Amino acid sequence: MALLSIIVPCYNEEDAVEPFFARASAVCAGLGADVEYIFVDDGSQDGTLARIKELGAGVRWLSLSRNFGKEAAMFAGLEHARGDYVAVMDADLQDPPELLPQLLAAAESGQWDCAAVRRVDRKGEPPIRSWFARQFYKLINKMSRTEIVDGARDYRLMTRQMADAILRLTEYNRFSKGIFSWVGFRTKWVETENVRRAAGESKWSFFKLLLYALDGIIAFSTAPLAIASVLGLALCAVSFFAIIFVVVRQLVWGGSAFGWPSLVCIILFLAGVQLFCIGILGQYLAKTYLEVKKRPIYILREQGGDHGQG
Ligand code: UDP
Ligand code: MG
Repeated sequence: MALLSIIVPCYNEEDAVEPFFARASAVCAGLGADVEYIFVDDGSQDGTLARIKELGAGVRWLSLSRNFGKEAAMFAGLEHARGDYVAVMDADLQDPPELLPQLLAAAESGQWDCAAVRRVDRKGEPPIRSWFARQFYKLINKMSRTEIVDGARDYRLMTRQMADAILRLTEYNRFSKGIFSWVGFRTKWVETENVRRAAGESKWSFFKLLLYALDGIIAFSTAPLAIASVLGLALCAVSFFAIIFVVVRQLVWGGSAFGWPSLVCIILFLAGVQLFCIGILGQYLAKTYLEVKKRPIYILREQGGDHGQG
């Protein structure tokens, strides 16, 4: 029988772990595959790890030395998964386990390498957040050649081959929506409605999401660098004509010493554009800096569970 590894990143999910496991186990009983759960405790400060350890047979756990973020937790899980198929899902039951049989069937059919879930609505989400999210997807798909699907969740099930491909991308700044798409393979999209969290609250504030969106753009597109150069060139052209205009005016009519307020405006504007472009450069430089350090993506403090020792 095929082995399915289910990776569950958990950060402060003490109230969600048990309900999740109960519902997922019920579904997996009739799945026709062996299942190993890999719970990754992403440096939780509450009783998440203790709850995970109580779950019992078929469960392995990894505990990271601090909070490394969901992307790192997922990577840790992937590295430790041994299944022929690997699934990633959230602990908060926003990824309904009932879809697992459908996802597994798609991957097993050989017609698809990966089955992923995308939500078709954003019910229960503040409208302003949905609006920003939609604009982000529009923007990133214009700027990057890697297609990033709107509403795609990280909930997916893939073959061993695809999981290995993802493991080869060892970059430090991980934007998994882009990574999943970058490695290619045939992905089947399964649509579902948005589900509210079972317990606890989302770890994503609006500001964190905004930074994450910026990370995504910078990791998968160099278009902002091009914008900086184009903007700079355009402004040079404008100032070139402006200089000709000023010189000609001085020669023909004389007396161009007036108009210092407009000069101040121009200086301020140009200073702003320069800072903007330097900022873009800085973003890329910062990311490059982090990458060249070749720091590990996560650090393990403890692991255990079925066959997990050692
Ligand atoms: N998560 C994690 N590390 C973090 C933040 C979140 O492992 O630093 C986990 C979290 O426990 C959950 C999943 O990632 O299982 C999704 O998080 P959340 O529900 O907060 O995100 P949302 O569903 O609101 O996008
Ligand atoms: Mg959630």
